[in-house]
Amino acid sequence: MQYQAAKGRPVVCCPRYASCDLPAGLSMVAALRIWQSLYCEAAWERCERRRRLEVGETVPANFLPDGRVLGAPPRGTSRGG
Ligand code: SF4
Repeated sequence: MQYQAAKGRPVVCCPRYASCDLPAGLSMVAALRIWQSLYCEAAWERCERRRRLEVGETVPANFLPDGRVLGAPPRGTSRGG
């Protein structure tokens, strides 16, 4: 898939770009643009969202391309005593 980048230059990006729910999971446009720049436009092969969708898993909108869930406690964080 191709789309027009900010400077009008066509770039190759993730085949799921048009239907991806990531924008629904991020309220900050600046944060969305960073994820899109790092994954959707540059390294979509490494996107954990894409990988899980490819195997038929349900992926919530707040599931980030690096495999973290937005709003979830950091890995290794214990709950309680
Ligand atoms: S977040 Fe992942 S699945 Fe969604 S468009 Fe970007 S690279 Fe593709």
